[in-house]
Amino acid sequence: MSGSVKQQLFAPIVEIDRFADGLYRFALNAPFVAQHCAPGQFVNVKVAHENYPLLRRPLSIHDSDGIRRIDLVFRVVGEGTAILAERRVGDELDLIGPLGSPFRIIKDKRALLAGGGVGIPPIHFLFREIQRRELPHFVICGMRNKDEAALAGAIPYETEHYELCTDDGSLGRKGLAIDPLIEQLNAVDPASVAVYCCGPEPMLRAVIRLCNERGVECQVSFEQQMACGFGACIGCSIETKKGYQRVCTEGPVFSASDFE
Ligand SMILES: Cc1cc2nc3c(=O)[nH]c(=O)nc-3n(C[C@H](O)[C@H](O)[C@H](O)COP(=O)(O)OP(=O)(O)OC[C@H]3O[C@@H](n4cnc5c(N)ncnc54)[C@H](O)[C@@H]3O)c2cc1C
Repeated sequence: MSGSVKQQLFAPIVEIDRFADGLYRFALNAPFVAQHCAPGQFVNVKVAHENYPLLRRPLSIHDSDGIRRIDLVFRVVGEGTAILAERRVGDELDLIGPLGSPFRIIKDKRALLAGGGVGIPPIHFLFREIQRRELPHFVICGMRNKDEAALAGAIPYETEHYELCTDDGSLGRKGLAIDPLIEQLNAVDPASVAVYCCGPEPMLRAVIRLCNERGVECQVSFEQQMACGFGACIGCSIETKKGYQRVCTEGPVFSASDFE
């Protein structure tokens, strides 16, 4: 798998699953992306057949079979995702990918994965890769309620390697994903673990602070709004200790140590 190649392609939708109010999983036949993507990367999708809306919408790769199929999971939040949700099996999606820099898997450290809401897709793909490599891991997923459980995809529920949190307590533990992450970190030597996180920005900022204070190696994936998706427009830049960096190109995955 590589982080340096991309293509524009037309990927037929082979399966659609609407698993909660406004949450969709699309399976696409996209061999080039499936064969070249790595966890943390995304595709930039033209949501409509027409030229409006003009800007593509970035979506993380939730899964890849490494051969031909990729899965995307998205929440309808506005105009673009609402149009996307109207697509049907057999439609072709115009997309560019794989884009962005992936997670770097630290082989000699136990992986602590934490995903929140629609930040779970890249964490799911990373889990699949870590599981494939048989690396030690613990996965935490936080979501609104039990109806959203399918966000966690193939991550097995109720094993000792997994904790699911819901805002309303309707499934798993009631509360935020950061709480089990703190417990995990309290129980280990900080040098023995690496944290990988994607979720809403307040979650990312809290995890960055937590890991930097404890000297824990940590990578976070930002889901900043963006325009071009491949570094030309710099519209998605965020401030880091190294200066402004483009989420679409230097990111979306950054080291927590790049932030205060
Ligand atoms: C690298 C990357 C990966 C992403 N992966 C996923 C994914 O796997 N699944 C998923 O559901 N979403 C993901 N997103 C977010 C997704 O791209 C946006 O939700 C989508 O572009 C919104 O388009 P829209 O036209 O529906 O909403 P708009 O009409 O553009 O916006 C609707 C509302 O949502 C807010 N909004 C839009 N985009 C974002 C954002 N990125 N962060 C916070 N608020 C936003 C707007 O400010 C506005 O209030 C990802 C974003 C990035 C940058």
